[in-house]
Amino acid sequence: MGCVIAGGGPAGAMLALLLARAGVEVTLLEKHGDFLRDFRGDTIHPSTLQVLDELGLAGEFLQLPHRKARSLSLVSDRGDIKLATLERLPGRFRYMAFVPQWDFLKLLTSAAGRYPGFRLLMNAEAYDLIREGGAVRGLRYRDGSGEHEIRAELTVAADGRHSVLREPAGLRAEELGAPMDVVWFRLPRHQDDRDDTFLRVSPPHMMVAINRESYWQLAYLIRKGGYDELTGQGIDALRRPVARLLPWLADRVGQIEGFDDVSVLTVALNRLRRWHRPGFLCIGDSAHAMSPVFGVGINLAVQDAVAAANLLAGALRSGAPIPESLLHRVQRRRMPPTRITQAAQRLVQSRVITPALTRRLDPTRLPRDLTRIPVFKRVAPRFLGQGVLPEHVRVKEL
Ligand SMILES: Cc1cc2nc3c(=O)[nH]c(=O)nc-3n(C[C@H](O)[C@H](O)[C@H](O)COP(=O)(O)OP(=O)(O)OC[C@H]3O[C@@H](n4cnc5c(N)ncnc54)[C@H](O)[C@@H]3O)c2cc1C
Repeated sequence: MGCVIAGGGPAGAMLALLLARAGVEVTLLEKHGDFLRDFRGDTIHPSTLQVLDELGLAGEFLQLPHRKARSLSLVSDRGDIKLATLERLPGRFRYMAFVPQWDFLKLLTSAAGRYPGFRLLMNAEAYDLIREGGAVRGLRYRDGSGEHEIRAELTVAADGRHSVLREPAGLRAEELGAPMDVVWFRLPRHQDDRDDTFLRVSPPHMMVAINRESYWQLAYLIRKGGYDELTGQGIDALRRPVARLLPWLADRVGQIEGFDDVSVLTVALNRLRRWHRPGFLCIGDSAHAMSPVFGVGINLAVQDAVAAANLLAGALRSGAPIPESLLHRVQRRRMPPTRITQAAQRLVQSRVITPALTRRLDPTRLPRDLTRIPVFKRVAPRFLGQGVLPEHVRVKEL
């Protein structure tokens, strides 16, 4: 068997599609029974849209219910501050598409299903690697019927920021630190509510509001590890700041009946020094857990998958063992974008998020329109929309 991938998130689903399309036998394992569970991020960036276009899937993607964001704003107590506009990006896609991630993953896995070499196993949880002769030869997983093995020339860990396959491979992540966790919940949306997706900051509170048409998906930032303290104070400790930050939701916050209606998402920022072993590769958050800052983790995961497919599909198709030097080329290509993006995330964490959560930031003193500042005007759209070193699909369909 060519390749087995643990994790049906953006990294794993995109890699599976690209390899299956290139004629490689590939099995994708997802530990959940669907793609619907907790938060996975909704942002599909211009560079991901470009990849979909190169795969002939952009039309199908744009048929999905989605919202286009051409600019991004921060809402302060004194009104909106324009952070970036994507309208001047080169290329066809000059907006970010907000799509519930389960729709995006369903699109990728259905497209992969059109190729004979693709197999998707849901409810299949990878838990260990098969190691023989100094190399990884596949993985072990469990499902409703028991424990099983899959042997493959290449085993890919795309199992996210809590990856379980890194450890048996002897790969350890270097923690870069994140000052926050995220409390995640939804409230109904009314027709006359504002209709964008935005960041709301009024120190010491910060929220992100995502418009999902019939409801608001809301993210409330808390200090790292602060969830127990919040629950100890009772549900009003959440309802009150939400009603203060978004007064037009005050009539609905009572619908958060208790902490059973919310979930807490732990934020991690880390990366592996080494992403591979013989026969084994980590991509996406399993190689480098991304903070939600800028909402770019999905794009990075997709770009990792494209780079990995471009470099590895030929060797996988030949059926010969994959030289580790080829796996190292994937890391070498994707490490610089990872480092630069994580450095920018750390900067925002230390200069904006920590000061905001501890009342040391006054957003009302920011300029009203950052897009007029030359460096923001030029750099921010490319960084947010395309990312560092955007990848293109080079591997041919077979
Ligand atoms: C609170 C929060 C908000 C974020 N918001 C955004 C955003 O708006 N936009 C954005 O671009 N990024 C966002 N990010 C970052 C983004 O979620 C990740 O960078 C991105 O999802 C990484 O994709 P991935 O495929 O590598 O991993 P994941 O998306 O984590 O996918 C991993 C998949 O593997 C499965 N899995 C896990 N373990 C196993 C196993 N043992 N066996 C089989 N399957 C397994 C999981 O169920 C999951 O489907 C956010 C992160 C956080 C924490």
